[in-house]
Amino acid sequence: MKYEEMLKLAKDKLPKVQSKSERFAVPKIQGHVEGNKTILINLFSIADLIGRQPDHILKYLQRELATPGYFQDKRLVFGRKLASQMINEKVKRYVEIFVLCEQCGKPDTQLLTEEGKLIKKCMACGTKAVVTASI
Ligand SMILES: [Zn+2]
Repeated sequence: MKYEEMLKLAKDKLPKVQSKSERFAVPKIQGHVEGNKTILINLFSIADLIGRQPDHILKYLQRELATPGYFQDKRLVFGRKLASQMINEKVKRYVEIFVLCEQCGKPDTQLLTEEGKLIKKCMACGTKAVVTASI
């Protein structure tokens, strides 16, 4: 048996928990509430990590949280108090919809438009999936 085959066999035998921990960990937002505003300080680094435009993420969050937001010195400011747990859930959802590959679960994807449809293309395994959610 080839070494690669043995490796694959060993990998297949690993418990499910193991493969789950290999999954992309969605970054948690960092920020605080200031008066009636919620300020996130790491949205740009999250955007950088997942390879998406901060504006795109902002549009999604604004709609999902039903709260207008804007950027100020690389900080994202929302016009009301928001629980961090709620924002984290939305960021996670964004990553699932727009970033993670449907097939292999890796975050190395690109968004393209083909025939008017938004396509998420995986650079790791080549899978293309139509993104039905819109922003
Ligand atoms: Zn993939």
